[in-house]
Amino acid sequence: LGTALPRLGHTRTTCGYCGVGCALDVLTSDGEVTAVRPAADGPVNRGHACVKGRFAHGYLRSGDRLTRPLLRRGGRLEPVDWDEALGHIAEGLRAAVAQGGPDAVAAISSARATNEENYLIQKFMRAGIGTNNVDNCSRLCHSPSAAGLTAAFGLSGGTDTFDDVENADCLLVVGANPIEAHPVVGARLLQRVLRGTRLIVADPRAVGLADHADVHLRPRPGTNVALFNGLAHVLLAEGLVDDEFLRRRAAGLAELTALVADYPPGRVAEITGVPAEDLAEAARLYGEAAQPAIVYGLGVTEHLHGTDGVRTLANLAILRGAAGTGRGYGVNPLRGQNNVQGASDMGALPDLLPGYGKVTDPGARGRAERVWGVPLPAHPGLRIPEMFAAARSGALRALWVIGEDVCATDPGSTGVAEALEACPLVVCQELFLSETARRADVVLPAASWLEKDGTFVNFDRRFQRVRPAVPAPGQARDDFAIVHAVAAACGVDLGVPTPAEALAECGRVAPIFAGISHERLEREGALAWPCPDPYGPAEAKLYLDGFATPDGLAHLAARPYLPPGEQPDDTYPLILITGRRWAHYNSGSMTRRSGNIRLDATERLDVHPADARRHAVREGDRVTVESRHGRATMRVRVTEETVPGQVFCAFHFPESHVNALTSGHADTDTSCPEYKVTAVRLR
Ligand code: SF4
Repeated sequence: LGTALPRLGHTRTTCGYCGVGCALDVLTSDGEVTAVRPAADGPVNRGHACVKGRFAHGYLRSGDRLTRPLLRRGGRLEPVDWDEALGHIAEGLRAAVAQGGPDAVAAISSARATNEENYLIQKFMRAGIGTNNVDNCSRLCHSPSAAGLTAAFGLSGGTDTFDDVENADCLLVVGANPIEAHPVVGARLLQRVLRGTRLIVADPRAVGLADHADVHLRPRPGTNVALFNGLAHVLLAEGLVDDEFLRRRAAGLAELTALVADYPPGRVAEITGVPAEDLAEAARLYGEAAQPAIVYGLGVTEHLHGTDGVRTLANLAILRGAAGTGRGYGVNPLRGQNNVQGASDMGALPDLLPGYGKVTDPGARGRAERVWGVPLPAHPGLRIPEMFAAARSGALRALWVIGEDVCATDPGSTGVAEALEACPLVVCQELFLSETARRADVVLPAASWLEKDGTFVNFDRRFQRVRPAVPAPGQARDDFAIVHAVAAACGVDLGVPTPAEALAECGRVAPIFAGISHERLEREGALAWPCPDPYGPAEAKLYLDGFATPDGLAHLAARPYLPPGEQPDDTYPLILITGRRWAHYNSGSMTRRSGNIRLDATERLDVHPADARRHAVREGDRVTVESRHGRATMRVRVTEETVPGQVFCAFHFPESHVNALTSGHADTDTSCPEYKVTAVRLR
């Protein structure tokens, strides 16, 4: 009586952390999140969620959340209103184009942002500015998957859904630690293994699933291609291949057979350190399974020859006829960030339009030109590392960074900071004053995934709705509204005023998404692409009627092993691998501000007991790690999860400067950094 009751809310949305795409029910009271519950009817999570999705939301109301635009004046970032910030950006973009043409401007979009936001930024860059200089952070993780899977099968996505993978009778999990990095999927895989599914783990580290593996292969970092060629050698030598499939549906068998003849288990053991008998046992397990599946992560892609790694891994599924037949469950990447699949699907890439049409293809370009009503640039734009190089050389005069802390997470972070210093206009839209935002000329306060409307695509190609559970604080706006506002300040009307209209327009540019709309998602729930027909099925299973390659065949790849860019020596005797830990996410900007998960509070360097003795360091000691490129400091964790000669750390703590250590080596096909192999020493 006379007492105001709290306004209670309940919103179904999709987790904004990893690419599993758990459906979550967010409970709110008076505009504040009070609890997050995993949805029992979530198509991937089925009532489960991990610590991040359930509890890491405290950052929303962190005291240092950005709530006003900031503009650099006299070397200091000062609060200004939106009009002044937007006016400064528009003036800077016009000056950049006037001095260097449209290609003097570039944007780094985000695999954290929604599909609609990614669609809008790439449309603005192409149709508004006139450049293909737009890329997203999948460049740093799964760009080799996009290149490798497209070349092998025709489409840039996993060949099967996770439900299919779960039906496998043998799992080959490569370069992935799903128990920590994709916990809900990790738990589902583990449940299958506990019920009898055979498991092969290929990873240098003793990742969680390795405890339950029939065979654990521990290749030296950077030797995947030799390992996969060795497995192919055994499959072919022992007749564990699907001859009928290879004859009717695959190309490249003769070349592959000739190449892998040079990879008998004994030679592979010399290169990889994997015992020959373990390699042969793993090949037989995979080769004799009726329904094998491959699941892989960044341990395959983040290498100097990451695309070759994806191609030679895909060879195994093709040899077994385990893709596009319904008898086996292909090759499936575990995507790291929530929307890393969607950001690329939407064309936030320098060479590809929405739906993966090449910018150099007049047909694909013409379709986008007809929808957008302007001629589009026909030459590919800059990849992220090329953007930094162009900024350092003076060719790039304006860089717009959306939701990425490139100074903390990109390799060779010292060089990234120099690039930002050299660029006349750096715009950064962020939740917090990140390492990158600190160096920007204009900082725009952005909304987080719990405050925005749109869709994400998860790691098995499912579009799922994202709905705002709470309002963004202060003057913060979602990325969709910010891109529209910047475009309007430049005199560009992007149309599509709502996310629903943006996705509908995307379907006209990209036929593989034409059947997916917000309205249909509301009605039917998650929808997987390709989905060309609004009234037709959303294809979860791919390639049953032929592969999407120009000739309809799956393509085997004969790729020789080539050594990694970094090799240990007497001065730098250890190999550093970087990756994720369970409770944190990327640069830690959200998880570390969520007081309800106080876990893993500092960066730790995993050191094998033998190396710890050799370097006279003990658990908890603070060490300086030095590479040929830089230095970092962190505390030691002595563990047998790593092997002698290798150390491991995460990248969740920018103050440790882990990426000052990493090299400029990158995948020769896609520029994905070689994060998994850095030669270091301890001090
Ligand atoms: Fe979110 Fe991934 Fe955890 Fe699911 S497994 S709750 S998608 S972080």
